[in-house]
Amino acid sequence: MQTPRPDRLSDVAIVGLGPVGALLANLLGQAGLTVDVHERDREIHALPRAVHFDGEIMRIFQAADLAEEVARCARASPYGARYIDPSGRVLVERRGIEGEGPQGWAGSWYFHQPDLDRTLRAGLERFPNVSVRLESEIATPEDLPARFVVGCDGARSVVRRAIGGRQRDLGLHQPWLVVDLLCDPARPRVAALPPYSVQFCDPSRPMTLVNVGPSGAIVRRRWEIMLMPGDDPDRIAEPERFWPMIARWLAPEDGHIERAAVYTFHSVVQEGWRRGRLLLAGDSCHQTPPFLGQGLCAGLRDVANLAWKLAAIVRDGAPDSLLDTYESERRPHVATFIELAVRMGGVIQATDPAAVAARDRRFAGGPESFSFPLPQLGAGCRVDDPSPIGTIAPQPRLPDGRRMDDTIGARFAVLGARDVLAGLDAPAAILPDVGLDWLATHGSRAAILRPDRYVYAMARTRAELDAALARLARDLRPA
Ligand SMILES: Cc1cc2nc3c(=O)[nH]c(=O)nc-3n(C[C@H](O)[C@H](O)[C@H](O)COP(=O)(O)OP(=O)(O)OC[C@H]3O[C@@H](n4cnc5c(N)ncnc54)[C@H](O)[C@@H]3O)c2cc1C
Repeated sequence: MQTPRPDRLSDVAIVGLGPVGALLANLLGQAGLTVDVHERDREIHALPRAVHFDGEIMRIFQAADLAEEVARCARASPYGARYIDPSGRVLVERRGIEGEGPQGWAGSWYFHQPDLDRTLRAGLERFPNVSVRLESEIATPEDLPARFVVGCDGARSVVRRAIGGRQRDLGLHQPWLVVDLLCDPARPRVAALPPYSVQFCDPSRPMTLVNVGPSGAIVRRRWEIMLMPGDDPDRIAEPERFWPMIARWLAPEDGHIERAAVYTFHSVVQEGWRRGRLLLAGDSCHQTPPFLGQGLCAGLRDVANLAWKLAAIVRDGAPDSLLDTYESERRPHVATFIELAVRMGGVIQATDPAAVAARDRRFAGGPESFSFPLPQLGAGCRVDDPSPIGTIAPQPRLPDGRRMDDTIGARFAVLGARDVLAGLDAPAAILPDVGLDWLATHGSRAAILRPDRYVYAMARTRAELDAALARLARDLRPA
């Protein structure tokens, strides 16, 4: 990692070294592209933000060859989340995953975001082709000397402003207090806290409790508390106001406030993620209320999608139009998560008596349950058929114990029954007799996976596979 030399044209300039920009820089660095990263601040973001990512995201870290490092600073959890009312009744449950899930990793991971940010930044040390300039605030991204410019510059993005377009508002905008507590796990009240996440659907004071995990001899607990009419946002984090709000669980002697901030949670999706050589990723093009712990996850999925396309264009001469598939694929995918978060926000944030009564009627018959969705990408670089095409493929273990992706690397893969793949000559990893159970559940005998492990095509026969490979060659044919 070096300091950028503004005199040369790099392949990609990244504006913003938050987690999304840092992962993109790692993936592009690994692909051998020259990358200049500009970050306004010197220090990593200090306020409490993300605490959760899912198994698909750990798989992206695996692709960046950072899974081990990330696993050292994150905690795998088999638990989901429970939405409970003040009487303790479970209204809704997000299911957890025991052991290694379909992505080849635990389904939920909890972490302290500064640790993750540091890990991603340290990963850049591996790449002499990636240059980072801290305290470099960009005002006119159009002027950056790079073939492509990606705005990973967060909710107030200057790159978004340069692109134009408009934001679709999904309707939720609500201030919440967010507090990280450092607690002594030996204290009985701390030990009695639930290991799973709780959405406390109390009309007098909605809250979220998250078990972030141990940090040395102490344990970090996240509290998110909805502001109610009459609350003073400047004073609500003061100890004499904060502790009484959580007196049902903890008292001041159980821990101390590590950090606190008041945020307004938003739900918006940008229309227009690309104009020419300018692109957006992460919070610059979508924001979600954090009720599912999926905002950062969406940004990391963006760059997993974008990185292989940029590498295919810059390194292998694929047509620039491949970048038009980025928004068409990703926007409906992220919208599915945000719409679900907004719906769950309706359950958590109900405070007026009519909405609470309607909620009670809805769950009178017992709790509902859900898992994180596995949406299909919108139309783009894939065959235009129903799911599982356009969804993330599972990651099985191979007979030698390795995870499938470790044998593929950053390229396309063809997997399936040995007889269907016999003699196949394709610019892809070829994996005979891998994923057969999954293929069989979809009535297929072979599949093409993209470098981001989304399914490009499924095939029942060798003829169907050959036709899909021919379409792929057309999609990637140099302009
Ligand atoms: C309370 C809360 C809880 C959350 N919990 C979760 C969770 O559990 N799981 C989850 O997945 N997500 C969660 N999120 C969402 C998650 O924190 C964000 O989606 C994520 O941090 C966005 O990352 P980013 O890299 O896109 O943007 P940011 O982290 O905002 O990074 C943008 C970077 O760009 C830099 N920058 C901005 N402008 C310029 C400029 N002009 N020039 C140079 N640099 C610039 C900034 O300094 C910053 O470093 C939560 C958010 C909140 C607020």
